[in-house]
Formats: sequence, structure tokens, C-alpha cells
Amino acid sequence: MVVASVDVRVITEKWNKPWPNIDMDSQPFWDGLREHRLLLFRCKTCGAWYWPKAFCRNDHDNEPFMGNLDWEEASGSGKVFAFNIHHWAFHPGFKDEVPYTYAIVELDEGPMISSTMVDIDPKNVRVGMPVQVVYEDHPNEGFTIPKFKPAG
Ligand SMILES: [Zn+2]
Repeated sequence: MVVASVDVRVITEKWNKPWPNIDMDSQPFWDGLREHRLLLFRCKTCGAWYWPKAFCRNDHDNEPFMGNLDWEEASGSGKVFAFNIHHWAFHPGFKDEVPYTYAIVELDEGPMISSTMVDIDPKNVRVGMPVQVVYEDHPNEGFTIPKFKPAG
């Protein structure tokens, strides 16, 4: 799989939106983002990709306690599965960003992820449009947010 060049945007303004919920289970995902790697769960037996889950759903033996599933880097490429355009800021932190596009992206590996689109006027976003992850670093807060831009 070809991984496109990594696009990193560094934001030093103070974070004024709801904080990401980083807990013990999701820590590896957020650690990956800080390294500019989009991690998903992958079955070591059959190669199926998932968001973290306990068992691979395909027809083979599963090790207990996620034994045959592990984090692995995904391509960061996908397509817009669905989207809506926010014209109203539901949190004060978004007031300078409306209108913005909130998209559900179907990753090339299969799992879906939702985030906001960058580098495109909301009126030009289309279902099926190829997109690529952008890593938005927030060094003062110590986390990275994945966003998506049109691919190519
Ligand atoms: Zn499997």
C-alpha cells in the first residue's frame, strides 16, 4: 500500500474546543497521531482492519483478550461516506470556523472515522470524494487531531 506524503499543520493557538477523550484503551491511537501515523486494529490471522474490538469477526479461531488483533498503521486515505455542513457553532470554540464540513470518511482499509474537512469550501464537498488525512499538531496541549483534505 502506498502511503501519501505526510501533511502536518502545527497549531500553537490555545485549544478552546472540547478536549479529546484519551483513555487507557485509546492511548495507542493518540500516540500514533502524535507520530503522524493513523493506527487501526488489524487481525494478524486474516488481515481484516477494525476499530479496536475484542475479536475478529471472520471465520477463524480467535485468541482470547484480543490476542490476534493489534494496532497497525493505515494509509490515511479514504472517501467521503457522508457529510454535513455546520453553519452554527454548537460550541464557542468553533465560532470562527463556521461554516465547516463534518465528514464521515470510509478509510481504504474499511473502518470509518469522522472529522472535519480542511482545504475545501464546504459547498464543494461530495460523497465519494477521495480524501487524505492531515495531522493537526497542538504542541502546547500535547495531542494531534486527524482531519481530512481532498486527495491529490
Ligand atoms: Zn481475522
